[in-house]
Amino acid sequence: MNGKRRCKVAVKRALVCVILLSMPVRSAASPHASRQARGSRLTDSARVRAALDWFTPNISWVNDQQARLTEIPAPSFQEEQRADAVKVLLAEAGLTAQIDKAGNVIGELRGVNEKEIVVIAAHLDTVFPPGTDVTVRRDGSRMDAPGISDNGSGVAALLALARALQFAHLKPQRTILFAGDVGEEGEGNLRGMRAIVDTYRGKLKAVVVLDGSGTDHVTTKALASRRLEALITGPGGHSWSDFGMPNPINALVRGAVRFINTKVPPTPRTTFNIGQIEGGTSVNSVPHEARLKVDIRSESEGELTRLESALRECVSAGVRDEMDSARDRSKGKLEWKVELLGSRPGGELVADSALLAALRAADEYVGNQSRIERSSTDANIPLSVGIEAISIGAGGNGGGAHSLQEWYDSTGREAGLKRALLTILGVSGVAEEKSR
Ligand SMILES: [Zn+2]
Repeated sequence: MNGKRRCKVAVKRALVCVILLSMPVRSAASPHASRQARGSRLTDSARVRAALDWFTPNISWVNDQQARLTEIPAPSFQEEQRADAVKVLLAEAGLTAQIDKAGNVIGELRGVNEKEIVVIAAHLDTVFPPGTDVTVRRDGSRMDAPGISDNGSGVAALLALARALQFAHLKPQRTILFAGDVGEEGEGNLRGMRAIVDTYRGKLKAVVVLDGSGTDHVTTKALASRRLEALITGPGGHSWSDFGMPNPINALVRGAVRFINTKVPPTPRTTFNIGQIEGGTSVNSVPHEARLKVDIRSESEGELTRLESALRECVSAGVRDEMDSARDRSKGKLEWKVELLGSRPGGELVADSALLAALRAADEYVGNQSRIERSSTDANIPLSVGIEAISIGAGGNGGGAHSLQEWYDSTGREAGLKRALLTILGVSGVAEEKSR
């Protein structure tokens, strides 16, 4: 085969031989390659099979890492400690690991072609504030703790994939970056993934996001969202002697009631949620400020814009109502503003993408069926700039995400790990060492 010679020239390493253009390298670039062919070819490689075989005997190691990392608190903007721990583990898996400026931990598995990069990422952060009890309670295959599934299972899978590739001495065609990224949740506003896409944009060919558990879905459509904060301020005073002065909490409540009566269409599906409301200092004071935070999501950017305007109008009207009904307007007036806390752009993976084909081939290999979903994940960022990206669960089962009752069950997690591994290798391609 003329393939061998081309390999040696291209790779310049005597031991390394690419499974040539005909192989996953090509399939990574060819959206129309048959799924069957892609899946079977990848698993024809002894090294790929060795990597796949690593998972089953090492599941308890994976579970242990998940429990240990979940017990390192990592609220958004405070992920350093967990990032450091993941960095050590990625280095132990033979990767060149570093922490970037944003705080992401990134382990590099150099490919034959270093000019092209694929990223597999799991967010490190949780929605739980500092001080939350993150002790993991284990009972057989079940683990209970805030953050255990979202995203303890994704981070553990990231490490498992790195270890499996190390065990199999598998060299990819394209460079694979294993990223534990920061700021996925809430006001983190996907800042870690934004930094990754910024840094590698010219070379970045695909991004696979591991978020939460399960294997039942693949997120290929990025749900656009905006997060807003409304703030109303006033002079504040005594509940008895200043009775009648305009009250920011009253105004906020009046505005909020108007806002929650805003009509939203069933299609394009559009939602809103008042997730936080706060203000005041004591029960016997007229508060000097009140604020609320709203999350709005839609399949349509137009609806987001409409809802954002509606919120501004409602807060303004709430302030007006409160001023109009204030018994004593001489005691000052209210000010208000609505600020954008974050905005997640939308986007969609094209149906004939190489990445989706790789995922489908992986599904086929593990005997899994998954449905296409639209959601707000780290994949929003690459998708919004036209880079192929998906978000998938990391296997096993979980529930109660973002609640203190969050749980994870590792039964069957091998399927999720294999699925993720074959997907990433499907887009990275595999270079195989020639047997001596
Ligand atoms: Zn998550």
